[in-house]
Amino acid sequence: MFKIARVGKHLWEEPVISGDRGSGTIFFSGCTMKCIFCQNYEISHDEKGIEISEEKLVSLMLWLQDEGVHNINLVTPSRYGLSLAHTLEKAKLSGLVIPVVYNTSSYERVEMLRLLDGLIDIYLPDMKYADNLLAKKYSGVPNYFEIASKAICEMRRQQPNDIFDGDFIMKKGVIVRHLILPTHAEDSKKVLDFISSVDNRLYVSLMGQYFPTKQVETLCSLFPELQKRITQAEYDDVTEYFFKVGLKNGFSQELNSAIEDYVPTFDLKELQNLLSIL
Ligand code: SF4
Repeated sequence: MFKIARVGKHLWEEPVISGDRGSGTIFFSGCTMKCIFCQNYEISHDEKGIEISEEKLVSLMLWLQDEGVHNINLVTPSRYGLSLAHTLEKAKLSGLVIPVVYNTSSYERVEMLRLLDGLIDIYLPDMKYADNLLAKKYSGVPNYFEIASKAICEMRRQQPNDIFDGDFIMKKGVIVRHLILPTHAEDSKKVLDFISSVDNRLYVSLMGQYFPTKQVETLCSLFPELQKRITQAEYDDVTEYFFKVGLKNGFSQELNSAIEDYVPTFDLKELQNLLSIL
């Protein structure tokens, strides 16, 4: 069984993923990390969602493909490893031909990723922190850097080249995402050092859309530094470092995109209706 919280076209991923027809996202409930600032708190922490069978998941992928999306985008599917590998094999045997995107916190074991070798076309990993103390403080996990860095190296091993179609929609490759946190630009620079050391051709998505969620606001005495958005100066500082460290490919964001309107909603009735017709 799988537990999912949302299925549908998503237009706000990187342009090479969303294109003009959208990315076919399937949000899985639960996450390997528990970030206090998570914008999808109700599914990552509270695990809101509906349980579905492997057959239903295959049907959802084929339905999204029929809707015309550019890819199937599996969001936080890390806990499913072997079952996900079986399901993707079945989906491909049943006619799934568009690229499969694996959208992950990167806090996962290399052995699990190896089970997916040959089944994932595009890896979309986060690299959240270089400093393990920040990972412990904000996301409640130990040894983040060691675990996530090995995971990203494995993803690059599986997809060593970034391949696009004539419309510059990604067909294969890796895009590493990094969310810049207020007052932590120096840690962001260390993250860029790491990415550059893996492969300076890697695409990097530098995200500036951090905003203090309701959960963060209720913890204001514990995390006063997280009660604000990042400044343009912080964003520019990290962007300049991106070039300084020799990185070549990436995506940047307008800081005014830091609004809650872009955060998906999780309406289980809508999902239930969709499941009932498949
Ligand atoms: S890794 Fe992403 S989805 Fe998971 S808790 Fe953190 S912000 Fe949320």
